[in-house]
Amino acid sequence: MSVEIIKEEFDWARPLEPLDLSKVTGIAFHHMAHPTAGMQTIHKWHLDRGWAGFAYNYWIDFYGSIFEGRGLNKGAGLYDPLNRTVLSIGFQGDYDNSEIIPEAQLIAGIKLVVYLKQLIPAIKTVNGHNYWQNDTSCPGRYFPLERIIETSAKIERIKDFDNIAGWAEDSAIKVIEKGIMIGDDQGFFNPAMPCTRQELAVVVSRLLELIEQARRI
Ligand SMILES: [Zn+2]
Repeated sequence: MSVEIIKEEFDWARPLEPLDLSKVTGIAFHHMAHPTAGMQTIHKWHLDRGWAGFAYNYWIDFYGSIFEGRGLNKGAGLYDPLNRTVLSIGFQGDYDNSEIIPEAQLIAGIKLVVYLKQLIPAIKTVNGHNYWQNDTSCPGRYFPLERIIETSAKIERIKDFDNIAGWAEDSAIKVIEKGIMIGDDQGFFNPAMPCTRQELAVVVSRLLELIEQARRI
């Protein structure tokens, strides 16, 4: 999975502690419980708590840009010692109150999960903050947890996903998520192969079925 990760500069209160990646086995999703706060505002909040600063390893804004916060250093999104074994991904927004997540932010979340699982094969469990610790509503009752977990797992099962051109990646994720195109029975998407009329008929019929379902709701 190719992802562009933008490095955000922070003035840390103290040096960060590099993670032992062989021990990193999980990912936790967080929301900001605030409708608009950006990374530097959150950094100030976290400094005020006496932390080294911005707590999350990675952060995704409403436009789907992925930022490095603490990166592969120990985060502070959970209670210790969990931060040694679980990476925290923060999502801009308040998903206790906002029912809709921007599509670009959702797709970036899926891509970052697939990327991190390729980078760190020991990662087995991907879930919300309140899976790891049940004293919070984070990442919010409307956070699309199942969509991110299930779709990233589907993408991981496509053996040649990395051969898909960058310009088509987001579209491929959408059609795979919706089951419109699911790859062949060997697990290949065959991104550059031509499509036959019978394959096109299957794709269009799945799309029609989805439209019918949406109409019934
Ligand atoms: Zn959280």
